[in-house]
Amino acid sequence: MVLREIADRESAQQQPDAPRVGYQGEPGAYGEVAAAAHGGIPQGYASFEKVLEALRDGGIDEAVLPMENAVVGAITEALEPFAQAVVDGLELVAVGLTSVPVRLSLAARPGTPLNEVKRAWSHPAALRQCTHRLAQLGIERVVCYDTAGAAQIVSHDASTDAAVCSRRAAERYGLEVLLEDVSDKEQNGTRFVHLRMADHARAQVPLAFLRTSSMTATGRLDVLTGATLLPLAGNAEFPVRMWVLGADAARLQALAPVRDVQVVSLGQPAAQAARMVPPKQGSEPVVKSLPHATARKPLTIVEVGPLRVGAGARAMIAGPCSVESPEQVMRIAREVASCGATALRGGIFKPRTNPYAFQGHGLDALEWMVAASKATGLPIVTEVMAVDHVQAVAEKADILQIGARNMQNFDLLRAVGRAGRPVLLKRGAGATVDEWLGAAEYVMAAGEARVILCERGIRTFETATRNTLDLGGMLAARPLTHLPIIADPSHAAGRADLVEGLARAAWAAGADGLIVEVHDDPARALSDAEQALVPARFAELSRALALHPDARLPLMQLRAWVDAIDHDLAALVQRRLEVAKVIGESKKQTGRAVLDPRREAAVRRTYKEAMPGSSDLADKLVDLLIEAARAQQSIED
Ligand code: PEP
Ligand code: MN
Repeated sequence: MVLREIADRESAQQQPDAPRVGYQGEPGAYGEVAAAAHGGIPQGYASFEKVLEALRDGGIDEAVLPMENAVVGAITEALEPFAQAVVDGLELVAVGLTSVPVRLSLAARPGTPLNEVKRAWSHPAALRQCTHRLAQLGIERVVCYDTAGAAQIVSHDASTDAAVCSRRAAERYGLEVLLEDVSDKEQNGTRFVHLRMADHARAQVPLAFLRTSSMTATGRLDVLTGATLLPLAGNAEFPVRMWVLGADAARLQALAPVRDVQVVSLGQPAAQAARMVPPKQGSEPVVKSLPHATARKPLTIVEVGPLRVGAGARAMIAGPCSVESPEQVMRIAREVASCGATALRGGIFKPRTNPYAFQGHGLDALEWMVAASKATGLPIVTEVMAVDHVQAVAEKADILQIGARNMQNFDLLRAVGRAGRPVLLKRGAGATVDEWLGAAEYVMAAGEARVILCERGIRTFETATRNTLDLGGMLAARPLTHLPIIADPSHAAGRADLVEGLARAAWAAGADGLIVEVHDDPARALSDAEQALVPARFAELSRALALHPDARLPLMQLRAWVDAIDHDLAALVQRRLEVAKVIGESKKQTGRAVLDPRREAAVRRTYKEAMPGSSDLADKLVDLLIEAARAQQSIED
């Protein structure tokens, strides 16, 4: 065990870029496990204050602090100095989280009988985790700075005292484990946060420190944001102080609209603030009666060939409303594929308001879609309307769509749930978010875990649009379900001229994808003619959403694509120069040095990370940008 550990450490040290990660405690402490978790070289310190000082002074690259324990909740011993450092102006960002399973042992010097142990040493947070067990054993608790430190103290002591620590720490200091697992709860674990200096890294974990004098300002914050609240004791000035893990600062500010609420964010950069927050993981479903659809589990990713949707992966499903002929669907499939679509849509059974309107070409049309799918590599998404058709459609289609009008056709939901294919579930035009999730539950309870939710507009008093795209409903569903949620701007708008705007709005709000109707001769389309985008407009939309075209697209279109990127790039460079100038002014006002080599190194890292495989180009770009920024900030070289 110990040998293995030494070997691990040596290999970590050989890694030239391995970060030095500070933790509080002696070797063998749980903090050391967290510090080593991502290839870091652990460095122990006597107190949390010392760890934070080392981070500030550059003695370490990263710090790990325990935030939360499964048995006792907030680890205030670490959270208090952390809060103090932040209030004092230390600019930290949270770059990761590590959960370390905790099994606390009672360990003493070899040969010590259990009934002679009268005192146990450990870190106060660890002692709190076994309050009841130790009381039952009649053992008094003695506070020291660390679990592994306790083992070390006991090993040097001639008494019959014990330590509460990991088996690893016990063995490291030559102690014998008298009792395994003395925590009051069986499932024990501690969550550590990894911190870096703000100018050294980009944030990844939404984490904020919040304090206020208003007791009511923060009520239900955990329910509203899905965040974990880690409370600290209040003081006269700020009766409410807490760490909020899992909600971004902009949202906290918006939810706690009281003037004296102070939020210090160590979280996501502003550009990501609009990202939707999925449900917090845990054991109970978000909605008890919907255990599948609202389970607290990692985000579901549905993957079929080039289509990947969920957990950050975004789908672009495109094609005609109705499959009208083999040639029509083949042409449109090629068009949308060349613009970066990841699946082909097309109706073979059409749910029409008027019974005399075109009803679809049925299973023949499915064969035409299969040919188009083979030619382009795009998987097929098509609506199934009747239980009797499910099996035949599932044999050839890749994803079964349930239309808005059938969202509560429970027999059909159960039937598609048993068909062995992913299901795209449209929200009914008159369905609430809860009813929509209830429909997903039907499909999932029948056996199909791969459900994609689709917001396609609800019926309101408005007649200017066919439906009202309910992005609020889509956002409200996000913290309730792990399932991917996409939007259908075409059926929401009912008008081609509004499709791009709605599509961009849904994309910006964090939709996991879009389903868009495209037709190359809308005037002659057999259904939904008014809302179809022609291929060139679809190409514009795809460009705006940063999809990748392929070489099948005509050269003129490809050039337009790259021109649009150049325009964006130039505008971003201009914005960067303007912001850099403001930074220069701010630094001059506050008397800080305008040049900062650590910042430059961080900028360089950002570019290299974003441009894998083009390291030289990244370097040259950074050189140019820094030179230009210096000129802006009027600094002599
Ligand atoms: C469709 O996608 O063609 C369709 C009929 O959609 P909805 O069920 O959302 O009206
Ligand atoms: Mn349609």
